[in-house]
Amino acid sequence: MFENLQNKLDKAFKTLKGQGRITEINVAATIKEVRRALTDADVNYKVAKDVTDRVKQKALDRKVLIAVEPGQLFVKIVQEELTDLMGSEAKPINLKGDPAIILIAGLQGSGKTTFSGKLAAYIKKQGKNVLLVAADIYRPAAIDQLKVLGEQVGVEVFAEPDNKNAVSIVTNALAHAKRTNKKVVIVDTAGRLAVDEVMMQEIEDVKKALNPSETLFVVDSMTGQDAVNTAKTFNDRLDFDGVVLTKLDGDSRGGAALSIRAVVNKPIKFMSTGEKMDALDIFYPDRMASRILG
Ligand code: GDP
Repeated sequence: MFENLQNKLDKAFKTLKGQGRITEINVAATIKEVRRALTDADVNYKVAKDVTDRVKQKALDRKVLIAVEPGQLFVKIVQEELTDLMGSEAKPINLKGDPAIILIAGLQGSGKTTFSGKLAAYIKKQGKNVLLVAADIYRPAAIDQLKVLGEQVGVEVFAEPDNKNAVSIVTNALAHAKRTNKKVVIVDTAGRLAVDEVMMQEIEDVKKALNPSETLFVVDSMTGQDAVNTAKTFNDRLDFDGVVLTKLDGDSRGGAALSIRAVVNKPIKFMSTGEKMDALDIFYPDRMASRILG
């Protein structure tokens, strides 16, 4: 994961970790290299600048120049700042309500349906009775896909293939969930283009009708800066509660993981690392920062 970024940061730290006297010039050059490594990894420019400015300040405050091991201290400072950037602590999802309702939103192909299946399996493992809801009125194949996943993880899937009104589908699904004593309802919505006004309005209406305890925005980490821009657009409309980063098993550069929290001010809650139903992890900012720094 993020090998390129890892290698570049490692290279950046070399001078400070090497022998000899450390000078202000060495530190400044290292900070510049760290910034370049971050922007090369598709981290938003302003975010990269803010982070490295903070690193610079901390390096001054903690007197890196006269430290016994300046390289180690410097890496520690970078690690703290990257952790902070991604939100410091893991943020659990809110399962309040009876049933608790989780709304899943995102672009088509981002990995929403796959994630919905994984999340259902994850919550089911906690001993809760889950209902998956297929609320995609545009792509019949999406309903079938969710049904296959539901079967795989042993969770009931609610669908009304002939109903072309998403609000009506989710309202009926909720009534069904109450009748059948489900504790958590996961609603997989249609993949929409952020520029498609009709579809954006539809998901806003679905959110209003459901009043979910948790709205999660799913985004493909391979799309870098686009992921961040899409997150911004969806957040403006939906005011979601958390982000799910998918396809971290691919060769994504790290920009989405590092920038999203700072740009939209919403925590990353889960990360998805494969197509299989168990390839889901809670997102821990400190572990991710350690991983990036190797
Ligand atoms: P949706 O259109 O947003 O519902 O996206 P899907 O769930 O159908 O996923 C789109 C494609 O990405 C499918 O081929 C999935 O198997 C694949 N996919 C989803 N999540 C991941 C992931 O974390 N890693 C990888 N490698 N593939 C994924």
